Formats: sequence, C-alpha cells, structure tokens
Amino acid sequence: MKTLDAPKNLTRNVLLGMTLGVIIASIFFYFQAQIQDDVFLAVEKYIFNLGGQVFKNLLLLIVVPLVFFSLVSGISSLSNMVKLGSIATKTIGLYLLTTGLAVSLALFFGWVFNLSGYEGEVESYEPVQGSADLYQTVLRIFPSNIFGAFVENNMLGIVFISILFGIALNLTDDLTSGLSKAFEKMNIVFLKIVLLIMNFAPFGVFCLIGSYVMAKGLNVFGDLAQYVLILMFVLFFHLFFTYSLILKIFANLNPIIFFRKMRNVALFAFSTSSSAATIPVTLKTVSDDLGVKKDVASFVVPVGATINMDGTAIMQGLATMFIASTVGVDLSLVQYGQIVLLAMVTSIGTAAVPSAGTVTLALILGSVGLPLDAIGLILAVDRILDMIRTSVNVCGDAAVSCIVAKSENELEEKTFNKLG
Ligand code: ASP
Repeated sequence: MKTLDAPKNLTRNVLLGMTLGVIIASIFFYFQAQIQDDVFLAVEKYIFNLGGQVFKNLLLLIVVPLVFFSLVSGISSLSNMVKLGSIATKTIGLYLLTTGLAVSLALFFGWVFNLSGYEGEVESYEPVQGSADLYQTVLRIFPSNIFGAFVENNMLGIVFISILFGIALNLTDDLTSGLSKAFEKMNIVFLKIVLLIMNFAPFGVFCLIGSYVMAKGLNVFGDLAQYVLILMFVLFFHLFFTYSLILKIFANLNPIIFFRKMRNVALFAFSTSSSAATIPVTLKTVSDDLGVKKDVASFVVPVGATINMDGTAIMQGLATMFIASTVGVDLSLVQYGQIVLLAMVTSIGTAAVPSAGTVTLALILGSVGLPLDAIGLILAVDRILDMIRTSVNVCGDAAVSCIVAKSENELEEKTFNKLG
C-alpha cells in the first residue's frame, strides 16, 4: 500500500539529525564562555528543549489510540479466543525469561569484571515514590473507569480494556453488521498519523540529542567509568548475543536481518529514552518489516513496552552491586537471587519513560537493605545509559514478537527475510 510507506531514507536522515545535534550542541556547550548567556539559554530552551519535547509529545499523543485500535482490530479478527490465551501465555513467559537472563548476566559480568564501588563523596538523593508495588501494578490492569485509564495513560489498563472490547466485538460481529471493519479503518488512519509524524523525526532527534548535550556536554563517564563501561558491555552483550540466541533457538530466524531492520526503532528509543514513545515505530517495524501479523504484534508490542525491560533490569542489577560495594556491603548468594527476582518484578512496574528505572531501583535497594540515597551517585551518568537501555528494552519486545508470531504461525517469513 503506497500511502502507508515510511518516509524515504528515514534511518540516514535520523542519523544525520543526531550527528548534527551532537555537533551543534557541543559547540554551544564547550564555547559557552564566548556566547552571550541569553543567546545560549534561548537556543537551549526554544530550539533544543522545546523542539525535543514537541516531538516526544507528538509520539506519545498517538500511543493510546494506536494501541487501542490496533489491539481491538487485531483481536476482533482472531478466529478463536484460545489463540489469544496462547499468545498471552507465551508472551509473558518469554518476557520473564529474557528479563531473568538479563539481570543474571548483569550480576555475572559484574562479578567477572570485579565491579568496585565509588570512593568519593556520595551526593544525597531524595527517593521518588516508586509505582512498582505489586498490589498497585495488578490493580492498574483492572481500572475502575475506562476513561480514567485512557486519560492517565495507564497502558496495562488500556491493554486490558482493548482486549475485552476486541473479544466482545469479535463475538458480536454478526449482530453489529461488521462494526469491526470500522476499527480496522481507524487503525489505518492512526498508522498514517505515525508516518506523518515520522517525517519530523530527523529534526526531532536533532533537538532531543542536542538538549542532552547542551545540559551536560559529552563526558558520559563522569567519575564512574568502570560502572558505565561494564553496564554498556552487558547491555550490548544482551542485545546482540542473547537476542540472537533466542531468535535462532526458538524461531530459527536470522538475527542479522532482525538487527538491520531494527535500526530505526533503536534510534528512536535511543533519542527519546522512552519505550512508550517508541511504540508507534516499534509496532510499524514489527508488522511491516519483520512480518509479524497484526493480531500478535498489536498485543506483544504494547505489553512489552510496558512490562518488559531487560535493559532496565541489567542497570538495576549492576547498580545494586555497585552501590553495595560503595557502602562496603558483601551481598550473599540469597541476596543475589533476591535481586534477580526483584528486578524481574520491578521491570513490570517501571514506567516506560525516561529515568523510570532509577525510581524503581529504590525498591530493590530497600529490599536488600542498601541506602536509597546512593542512587544519587549513579544519576550523574544515567542519561546516556538510559538511552542505551531503552534501545535494548524495545529490541527485546520486537524479538519476542517474532518468536511468538513464529510459534503461532503468524509470521510472514518472506517479509522478515526481505531486505529492501
Ligand atoms: N527509559 C526506560 C524505558 O522507557 C525505562 C528506564 O529504564 O528508565 O524503557
């Protein structure tokens, strides 16, 4: 369908936008002394911050209707509901498995590379109230007010309502004279909105990256080089090794093709630091380029963006080790087990927005008896790490989508293998 094609040369233009953003913002940052204060502040506020925020808002603004219409139209076209149960079970199972693997890898490599603590002064930190409490998370799946869930961007609730609505629509299609077709058409309209917004992506990422660089410059390591390097290593290891392995073992799919097609999604996640804001791009890539049929993609992607955060779990595992070592606590084997389980649970409750992982980290630290104010220490370097771990998070969602689709016979392998 010609009108639903992605903008031409999107990846190249987004990369160009990013590079220019880094260069121009670095000039401002490093030559700040030569630039008038009000010029500097105006450029930072009205070009980089405003442009970046507008672009992120544009993406976020379509997430709720896009998820709703694609899930409803996906489910209403299913031939039977048993399939939905099977898709859901496999999805949740795989998400838990990959997150468990992710945090275990983090702890393993932290031990292998002998991650040591920070020796300087620890800045104090006021922990923000986390929302990962299991009781609250379960309640969020079952909201008491349909519109409330939509207004509050409660993704778990929206997914549940969409499933319920989709099932009812599916079961009453004869009685509603094919109302489900209307939802399919609305879905197409929202996909088109995604494509329209993507035309602005190069400028959007230019601003987003620029605003990070203008605030902090290019020193991403701070005083914590060892922590940052090990964390980056584990994130890339999980991204390229674990996902390749599970794609090959569970679905016999070629990981190289998978990663080539995920470039755009990873770039969007990197520049927005938000799995939620990336949902429109992930959905589009998973269904159009990776060949996952709509009924699987429309469930697995939004659920994944909400509950599956392997990159976040890796950060939480390593940060806990790092903080323990900083305050001189030796973690026991039982505590390591506890960290793995807690990271799996908190990743479900972590919001898919920038820095959310550092908020729920407080829950893990509290549970193993470590001081919460030590989080202040890692915040200084968290900006870039958040960008990388969000890319890992969304690639995990896409990999699981392909595996679930393959096992349900819902993957068009010709589309997956086609390199354009
Ligand atoms: N920014 C991450 C995401 O949206 C969450 C986090 O780890 O802070 O996926």
